[in-house]
Amino acid sequence: MNEHLPVFYSPEVLSHQTGNGFFEALASPYLPVTEAHPENDLRLRNMIGILKHGPLSTFLNWHDAPVANKAQLERFHTSDYIRELEQLDVTTSHRYSSTTILGPGGFDVVKVSAGLSIAAAQHVWQGQSRIACAMCRPPGHHAQPSMADGYCFVNNIGVAVRELMASGLERAVVIDWDVHHGNGTQEGFYDNSDILTISMHMDHGAWGVSHVQKGSAEELGSGRGIGANLNIPLPYGSGDIAYTRVFREIVMPAVVDHRPEVIFIANGQDANQFDPNGRQIVTMEGFFELARLARELAETVCDGRLVIVQEGGYAISYAAYCLHAGLCGFLEQEQTLPDPLAFLPEHTENLDQFIAMVQRVHG
Ligand SMILES: [Zn+2]
Repeated sequence: MNEHLPVFYSPEVLSHQTGNGFFEALASPYLPVTEAHPENDLRLRNMIGILKHGPLSTFLNWHDAPVANKAQLERFHTSDYIRELEQLDVTTSHRYSSTTILGPGGFDVVKVSAGLSIAAAQHVWQGQSRIACAMCRPPGHHAQPSMADGYCFVNNIGVAVRELMASGLERAVVIDWDVHHGNGTQEGFYDNSDILTISMHMDHGAWGVSHVQKGSAEELGSGRGIGANLNIPLPYGSGDIAYTRVFREIVMPAVVDHRPEVIFIANGQDANQFDPNGRQIVTMEGFFELARLARELAETVCDGRLVIVQEGGYAISYAAYCLHAGLCGFLEQEQTLPDPLAFLPEHTENLDQFIAMVQRVHG
């Protein structure tokens, strides 16, 4: 198959500054060395690097996109919130919550990021390709209609879904496999029965005033939207087996029942086994399989229409490899890139021999 994947990207997203400190918090007075905030440009540089130079590079076409305009942002966000972002002093950084920082002039970058997602969605909706990918930064899935949260300011998928709804889209599904709960997307479509929001995430619960949603299975939606929000809070330590089984047994039947016209993927790689922000153990192979299943699902329910939007993924090297593995799955390509850290934490096949070996060694 010689199918190409359009990738929407602008180097401007690298200029969003999140600063240094104690991981995502303020620097410690006791530590002489600070570290880059986990949502930094290096992660994107590696992701773009592997897409441009890795085995999949010949199957990718690169596209720029117009910057999202105010009307587009206000289809998902409140005008008061957007006005607040517009009026920020562009000469300084702004700290939202304890972890979420918008560097000087960062709102301009946020609009570039949202524009990439909107353009990828339009590309698919207008039939220019069946599948498209937006390499957004900052990510978007925690941004709620009137609030920033979890490194996110504008909900990139949310504004793209709303944009297509303004162009005739009636039914869609958002599948979010970022390791964190997609609370912003949930909030934006909570009373909407036409947009099914699905989040599979580690069971981290609520995390303060900017993230009051628990991500529990009981958060079903409200009003007409009851039943159109599906949370799957996976136990800590879930890996390839748990993620793919949940996808097959819960996500796929729900999407088939919903009959969407487009499937959006909130494509985070922070469920990977080396992520500093996640406590899950998904490998490259797991991301490949999730993406392959998503493609199969899209073929079954919506003529293959699939919009892939970048979310988290903070292990600077491994997240890039997991992204590449996932795109191979979406494109139904063989995954030829070896996993350099091929640690298989759920591998139990040789347990009997292992026990026998230890027993033998210890006499
Ligand atoms: Zn995340």
